[in-house]
Amino acid sequence: MIKAPTGTRDILPEDVKTWQRIEKTAGEIFTLYGYEEIRTPIFESTSLFQRSIGEATDIVEKEMYTFKDKGGRSLTLRPEGTAPVVRAYLEHQFPQRDQFQKFYYIGPMFRYERPQKGRFRQFHQVGIEVFGPNHPMIDVEVIAIQWRIFKELDVSDLKVKINSLGCEKCRPGYRKALIEHLKKNRERLCETCQRRLERNPLRVLDCKNPGCQQVVREGPKITDYLCNDCREHMKKVTDGLESLKIPYEVDPFLVRGLDYYTKTVFEFIHTALGAQNTVSAGGRYDNLVEELGGPEIPGIGFALGIERLVLILNEKGLPEEKKPLYFIPLGEEAIKEGIKIMEELRDSGIPVIWTGKVASIKAQLRQANKRGADRVLILGESEIENREIKLKDMKEGREEVIKWKDLKEHLRYYF
Ligand code: ATP
Ligand code: MG
Repeated sequence: MIKAPTGTRDILPEDVKTWQRIEKTAGEIFTLYGYEEIRTPIFESTSLFQRSIGEATDIVEKEMYTFKDKGGRSLTLRPEGTAPVVRAYLEHQFPQRDQFQKFYYIGPMFRYERPQKGRFRQFHQVGIEVFGPNHPMIDVEVIAIQWRIFKELDVSDLKVKINSLGCEKCRPGYRKALIEHLKKNRERLCETCQRRLERNPLRVLDCKNPGCQQVVREGPKITDYLCNDCREHMKKVTDGLESLKIPYEVDPFLVRGLDYYTKTVFEFIHTALGAQNTVSAGGRYDNLVEELGGPEIPGIGFALGIERLVLILNEKGLPEEKKPLYFIPLGEEAIKEGIKIMEELRDSGIPVIWTGKVASIKAQLRQANKRGADRVLILGESEIENREIKLKDMKEGREEVIKWKDLKEHLRYYF
């Protein structure tokens, strides 16, 4: 019997609900921040990834699905989403229209890796790319977006790690100090890292081998080598995170598996995921657009691994979706006032349903219950008189009386 290729998986109907929920939540949150979806091809010219990700990275050295098509072109199944989006941004002359752009994408990526829990050969990412701004508060916003996605899906036990990889001014100084340190400890490094040492020493920081990690931790910290500009940038990012009460940890040894990052890099770690515990990651890439043949335009982005988020949600269960309110008017006067109240609520995006049924409170409550309402709004004569409305929690039976003028503000808590 033919089976799905190693490292790929079918997403069966019973799992699709979780996937759709993640896609919907992420899409809505991206829209909230002004991001627009972009869809790029599944395969690209191989050189796009060689030039952007870096020749001496694991991805380009050994993980790419590269093939020649019948016309002899070298093509590669995309291993990540950033380079294709940059390519499209340049190809369609976005910089000439407006350098400031916010994109999001969703879809499969391909890497020839050793399959294991949370690691596949075809996996899926949702991600964003921002072009134009170099303001550190955009870095904060990009981190806040991820934070909001996890919050919305009720995922806790998350740790945000951040670091700065410096820029072309200060990174060489760190690189030199790192090479010196690694050379002194060469015999303690794994074979791959011994090879990486000269070609791409920062890659050693990302090695999962405990021996190599120990050597790295005894070595120089990039945060001690940052130039004033990069140091200030980092300070503004951490200050911004604090002002939003997003807990973070500076990890001076954090690097990413791709060479194009500058300044801010970050990872969202889920403490219960085991070995593959990074759910979402990214950073700033101020030179990438230029390196791919465009003008000097800074950028920043992240990619979130959907399979890993599905793992978390499967263990914890999906949070209940917010259900619309049901409006229960008692009498003609209540309907007349209620139609205005409902319109105002919908104006601020609060979903509220009136079935149109004119019936006793008992019958209307029964109907709302049958439709799975969490909360109902009850408007009777005495409430109208006091310009109030009753909010009833259907599960707990709790009732609150709220002034009309406070209703929107009050309901904002639930929606
Ligand atoms: P890792 O260190 O786990 O290999 P990475 O540094 O290669 O991750 P990125 O290229 O930054 O990861 O991708 C961002 C996110 O995409 C990761 O944090 C992870 O959630 C997900 N991801 C990356 N590679 C895979 C894979 N092979 N299978 C499943 N998810 C993946
Ligand atoms: Mg990887």
